[in-house]
Amino acid sequence: MQETALKGRKFTGSTRAPKTYSTSRSCSHKGCDTRLSQYNKREFCYSHAPTKYPRLRGRIVKAEA
Ligand SMILES: [Zn+2]
Repeated sequence: MQETALKGRKFTGSTRAPKTYSTSRSCSHKGCDTRLSQYNKREFCYSHAPTKYPRLRGRIVKAEA
């Protein structure tokens, strides 16, 4: 006899819901009213995000000495 059924967790309809942060937050930048997504955990909008990397097409650009 073969055991075809795997024992384990049942599939329930409610899997983990996406994490939500507080609703209707806006950018922390002074004077900026850009709404942030509730799924976005950043505190700044895209234009005020502290770390901005230019598009490098996947290359690592070395600083030339
Ligand atoms: Zn902003």
